[in-house]
Amino acid sequence: MGSISHPDPALPAPAHIQADSMLSRRFGRETVNYFGGSPLNRLSFLRTEHAFLSAAVNHPSSRFILLENLSPLVQSPTAIFKAQYADVQTLVPSTVFDKSEEEMIREFDSRVTKPDLVFLGIDETSDDAKGDDLMQWKIYKGRPCFALDVSEKGNDEQKAKTRTLLDELKAKGVTPYLSRTHMTLPPDEGAIFAQARAYLDWNNRNKFCGTCSHPTLSVNAGTKRACPPTDKALTAENKSSEKPACSTRTTISNLSFPRTDPTIIVATLSVDGKRILLGRSKRFPPYWYSTLAGFIEPGESVEDAVRREVWEEAGVTLSRVIIHSTQPWPYPANLMIGAIAQVSDPAHETISLAHDPELEDAKWFTVAEVEEALKNGVSALGEPASKDYVEGNLRLPPSTAIANQLIQAAISKEYVGDKLARM
Ligand SMILES: [Zn+2]
Repeated sequence: MGSISHPDPALPAPAHIQADSMLSRRFGRETVNYFGGSPLNRLSFLRTEHAFLSAAVNHPSSRFILLENLSPLVQSPTAIFKAQYADVQTLVPSTVFDKSEEEMIREFDSRVTKPDLVFLGIDETSDDAKGDDLMQWKIYKGRPCFALDVSEKGNDEQKAKTRTLLDELKAKGVTPYLSRTHMTLPPDEGAIFAQARAYLDWNNRNKFCGTCSHPTLSVNAGTKRACPPTDKALTAENKSSEKPACSTRTTISNLSFPRTDPTIIVATLSVDGKRILLGRSKRFPPYWYSTLAGFIEPGESVEDAVRREVWEEAGVTLSRVIIHSTQPWPYPANLMIGAIAQVSDPAHETISLAHDPELEDAKWFTVAEVEEALKNGVSALGEPASKDYVEGNLRLPPSTAIANQLIQAAISKEYVGDKLARM
C-alpha cells in the first residue's frame, strides 16, 4: 500500500476478548472492527453523579476530544488532539456540574447557552507513569475523557470565545480533520472519536423536544436530553414559565435518549462456496465493488433484513444467514451488523437489478479474484491501490471497513470451512 498517504491503522485487539475460552475454541477469534474496541470504561451509572463529574471535569489527568462541525481537531490524520482542562476552560466553567440535575431542570432557562459537553468514560489503559496522576473515584481509576463541541454557535460571547480557542489551537498546528470518514486515527482514538461524534451530533439534532417542540436541556453528562416542565425564558414574554404537559416527562421515551440505527452488511457465498456476490454503487470509482448493505426496517429481524436487501438490490435469494461481527459507524448513528450468507439453490444465484435501482452493478467474483483484490486492490475509497495492482482488476475497501472483514471471513477456511462449504 506504498502510495497511500495514510496507511490503515491496525485494528483494535483487546487481549481479554482474544483470550482462550470455550467459545473462542468453538467459534474462533472475535473480529473487533475499527471504531469498536474502545479503551474507555463508560461508567454510565455515574452520569448523574455530579460530585464525580465535577471532580472529573477539571482533574489534571482529564482530556477533551474537540469536534468542530463534527470534524475532530487533530495534530495530524493519525493523531487526535487531546485538550487539557486549561485549554477549554473559557468554554467549560469548572462549576458546570455543581448543580444537581434536579436543580438544573428546575432552573432551566432556554436563553442560556451551555457548552455541548459529553462525559465519555475513563481510560483505564493509561498509567500514572506516563505523566499526571490518574483520577481515583471509589474503586474506579483512570483518565476521565470528555467530548466538547467547539463549533461556533450560541450567543455572540460564546461564538467569540470559541473563535479565540480555535485560533489559539490553529497556531499550535491543531486543525479540524475534514474527511468523509476518519479511519486513519489509531484504533483507540478512532473508537473514542466514534463515541464523541455520535453523541455530539445527536445533541445538536435534538435541541427541541420531539414530542412538544419546546427547547430541551442536556442531562446525564450529555447522554440524555430532558424536556423541563418550566422555562424561565417564557417569563420574559410575560407568560407563565410553566410549559404544556409532555409525555417525555412521564414515560420511558426514546426521544430523550440517543438512538443507534441498525444496518445490515453482507458477504454472500454462492451455492458451491467458490464465488462471492458484490455490488457497486454509482458513486464508486472504476472497478470498485463492496458487500451489499441497507437499513433494517421496523419489525424486521437481522436475518430477514439481510435476505430482503440482497433480493431487492441483486435479485438473489439467500438461505442461511449468520452474523459475523459488528461495527459502530458514527455517520451519523449506525451500527453495521455484518453477516455472511449463502445461496442454497443454483437457480437463486441469477442476478437481477430490475427490482431496486440502487446498485449500478452486482456481480459474482471468484475466490481467486477476491484474494488478488485483498492483496493488491484495497484502499480507502478513491485512494490509489498498491503498486502491484493491475488496472481493471477488482478493487475492495480497506481492512478498517467491516466489508473487508466480511469478505476475508467468507473466503477463510477457518471461518466457513473448506470441503463442506465449497463443494
Ligand atoms: Zn417535550
